[in-house]
Amino acid sequence: MATDLLQQRREQMFPKLTPTQLARLEEHCARRETTAGEILLSVGDTPRGLFIVTAGSVEVLMPTSDVHTETCAYSLVNVLTTGDFSGEMSTLRGTRALVRLRVREPGAVLEVGLDDLRRVVRNDAELSELMMRAFILRRMSMLQSGFSEVTVLGSGEAGDTLRIRQFLTRNARPYVDIDIDHDPDARALLERFHIRPEDLPVVVCRAGEVFKNPDIGSLAECLGINGQADDSVVHDLIIIGAGPAGLAAAVYAASEGLDVRVVDSFAPGGQAGTSSRIENYLGFPTGISGAALAGRALSQAQKFGAQLSVAWQAVRLHCDDWPFAVEMSNGSRLRGRAIVIASGAQYRTLEVANVERFLGSGIYYAATHLEAEMCAGEDVAIVGGGNSAGQAAVFLAGSCRHVHILVRAPDLAESMSAYLINRIEGSHNITLHTRTQVTELDGTNRLERVVWTTAGAAPVPQVLHHVFLMTGASPNTRWLAGCVALDDHGFVKTGPELTPGDLAGWSLPRSPYLLETSIPGVFAAGDVRADSVKRIASAVGEGSITVQFVHRALRDLPAAASPNVIAAA
Ligand SMILES: Cc1cc2nc3c(=O)[nH]c(=O)nc-3n(C[C@H](O)[C@H](O)[C@H](O)COP(=O)(O)OP(=O)(O)OC[C@H]3O[C@@H](n4cnc5c(N)ncnc54)[C@H](O)[C@@H]3O)c2cc1C
Repeated sequence: MATDLLQQRREQMFPKLTPTQLARLEEHCARRETTAGEILLSVGDTPRGLFIVTAGSVEVLMPTSDVHTETCAYSLVNVLTTGDFSGEMSTLRGTRALVRLRVREPGAVLEVGLDDLRRVVRNDAELSELMMRAFILRRMSMLQSGFSEVTVLGSGEAGDTLRIRQFLTRNARPYVDIDIDHDPDARALLERFHIRPEDLPVVVCRAGEVFKNPDIGSLAECLGINGQADDSVVHDLIIIGAGPAGLAAAVYAASEGLDVRVVDSFAPGGQAGTSSRIENYLGFPTGISGAALAGRALSQAQKFGAQLSVAWQAVRLHCDDWPFAVEMSNGSRLRGRAIVIASGAQYRTLEVANVERFLGSGIYYAATHLEAEMCAGEDVAIVGGGNSAGQAAVFLAGSCRHVHILVRAPDLAESMSAYLINRIEGSHNITLHTRTQVTELDGTNRLERVVWTTAGAAPVPQVLHHVFLMTGASPNTRWLAGCVALDDHGFVKTGPELTPGDLAGWSLPRSPYLLETSIPGVFAAGDVRADSVKRIASAVGEGSITVQFVHRALRDLPAAASPNVIAAA
């Protein structure tokens, strides 16, 4: 697969700069002689920019560490010659390098610094297209290569293994996956790394560092996934949540010259990032996976200079002072002149006693390729009657033996789009169970048995290992801690929805802008907003239009007089 991609797209992945393009870049470059064997960049280094080869050649090498043999070898990806340039998405993001650059034949390179590189991709349309396409394709090829300096060892059936795999996959990090239940050398591997079964899953990072069942914060640290950022600065805009709403706000705000910081507690893409195929998003007639949409949006935001930190969870918004401050679970504190709340909503769970026990090892909230692989050839149940349930059913029916949809309602007409209902009805291996709910879950290490009950009938026990919950959402607003007005379900009220009572502390002569909360300069977009349409397009739309109100608020906030909001201006 990797070889195919390399062949098909080689020219786009490794385009040569023309003399005219080179001349435009030269003003940003420092020239440097190279010697054979010289390492220009090591895996794990924070890149200071990219190299353009002007004489001689440079090897691009990917680590192929093999925990079975404890060797750390390199595989040759390409040899850069005159006119070629190095770099991939981590270069632009300023995060740790995934490849090694070694001079093969002595010559010279031009070095473009990170700030200059970012300026070029922002301002030079032709070079921007050429480089962004090359960077994105190079990362895709790395993901498909199966090579990495990161190895995950764990049971494929354990919830924590899935959590780690999801974090790496959703953050587009290549990794080697060893399923301890199926790898013939599993026992020897565990002994070699002194790992007890209760330590699993483990992640072996660069240089053999072993992380036992790491939380995602430690994992992000070990991977160097977040670029270096100066947390003492006051940003123009802080966006909490990098789902469709947050990423759209980031793209528009950064492209309009604002200094933007985005944080997400898990990975870019939000709920949309977990969707296997989105078919109703404008411009993608054959559908697009949530991961691809999120990857493109993130690259776009970063091209314009937005900074993203993942595995950063906002735990408190301080809105009494201005600039505002947001406290993070890792102890960091960010300050910003305006805030966009784009923290989305979370799926509701089952009202069954032991549901938490099976999260990730039988109970799932997303139906992506990862989950589909685990359920291949087996029966699965999907709880819920909305569009995401319908999409999951159609998708899983492609690889699972049988898909059971369980809904409390008498039919799907009120909750699901007609096109999905038609596909479900036309599918031979999907059965809809109306007026039905899960009443029992059972199993030891993993989910083994599910009981569901249809109104007026006896409970039906099923041998079934996978249940997908697609049962509606609750807002991620706990971190707002009474700062902004919320509706009865905890969603953030904005603009016209705000009552005089909600605005008792409002400090400006004007009314709140559309999408502005009860605190001037704090906005909400996407699923987290009261009465929002729970769709990607509307989240993207809200995220992007928020930015014009952010501009206006940045103009009138410093002029406002209320000590309530402006205390620290
Ligand atoms: C499986 C599935 C399939 C779907 N399919 C479709 C579809 O085909 N078409 C469609 O239009 N819609 C679809 N949807 C709905 C759509 O994905 C959502 O409406 C959309 O993602 C909402 O975007 P958002 O940015 O508002 O919130 P989210 O996507 O929920 O993103 C919120 C982000 O905020 C982060 N976050 C939460 N709390 C914090 C915190 N305290 N600190 C930092 N970060 C935080 C989360 O990690 C998350 O990344 C689907 C949803 C799912 C789950």
